[in-house]
Amino acid sequence: MKIRLELQDIAHYPFLKEAQEVIAARGFSLATITGNSKNKEYLDAAVERIRDAAQSKKGRVWTDSDDPFLDILSYGLARILISCIKNRSGIATLARYEAERAFYFLQIIETNDDIRQHIFRELDIPFSGSSISYIRFIELTQTLREDSFRLVNRDLSKGQVSLNDEEKYLLLRERIRTLLLEQLPLDLPDSVCEHFSEHIMDVQTIIAERTVEEYGDVDESRFPPCIHALYEAAIAGKYLTHSGRFALTTFLHTIGMDATEIISTFSQGSDFNIEITSYQVNHIISQGTDGYTSPSCATMMTHGICSGKNAKCKQVTHPLSYYRKEKKANKKTVNMTSK
Ligand code: SF4
Repeated sequence: MKIRLELQDIAHYPFLKEAQEVIAARGFSLATITGNSKNKEYLDAAVERIRDAAQSKKGRVWTDSDDPFLDILSYGLARILISCIKNRSGIATLARYEAERAFYFLQIIETNDDIRQHIFRELDIPFSGSSISYIRFIELTQTLREDSFRLVNRDLSKGQVSLNDEEKYLLLRERIRTLLLEQLPLDLPDSVCEHFSEHIMDVQTIIAERTVEEYGDVDESRFPPCIHALYEAAIAGKYLTHSGRFALTTFLHTIGMDATEIISTFSQGSDFNIEITSYQVNHIISQGTDGYTSPSCATMMTHGICSGKNAKCKQVTHPLSYYRKEKKANKKTVNMTSK
């Protein structure tokens, strides 16, 4: 069924193909945006969108803006700016935000069932009915951690998994998030990013501040034992397996180390080659698929690099959670002793 969406509807769900049609119909393209300094207003709005995404707000609400086209274009430009900085945490932050935003409009604000149905159909999730094929269920839930979304905990009948309405919306939100993670970073010519350099610097600052807020300054003494072992080996110039280098690089990048600092971590090895190491590090930290995020404890174990496991490890499933908890505990101790 063909459905007619108003501009405001498209602004609620700017990932729809209708958004690209609106942008093209108004004569906007990468070429026209980079070629016209009057488009600063749109780029500023994209930076603000990323700034909003980077703020940790609980119970966030969204309202309609006075200029729905600005909302639509700022979504597209935010994707471009975040792609230019090639930062996985930044991309993950924007993807989470966009998924939350669309979920909010769809579940809280939307009154038109035809529009709801259209969004579900576009994302290949059943809107009516109360079940989904188990294959699609596995595809949609593989990035969810909740036990309730594990197939072993579900009723399975004739290859179908039953779903309630709340769960359908949660799957939809996750689908929007993973879709963006799959799409980003966009493959852009260097000249495009160079053209946006002023706005890209703003975005870099926003994401760096967000990382500091989330993880604080890098503190090696709070590393989990596995990362500590890899880090010590790296700075001593010892050999690291590919999975060890990968785990260490993605971990250090996520907690806020830039490429230069990470490269210098590996610089003591007798076989150190700055060009090869730079290429490897930049390749790992700029990839746009989930396969390039910091590995979980389960993956670390599979690769034999979960070493030095201690009692605190029992409370986590990811080295980053270990680090976050340790930093938080340390902060509390510092606050208590300074009172
Ligand atoms: S359990 Fe996890 S955090 Fe602890 S050492 Fe192993 S991989 Fe690292």
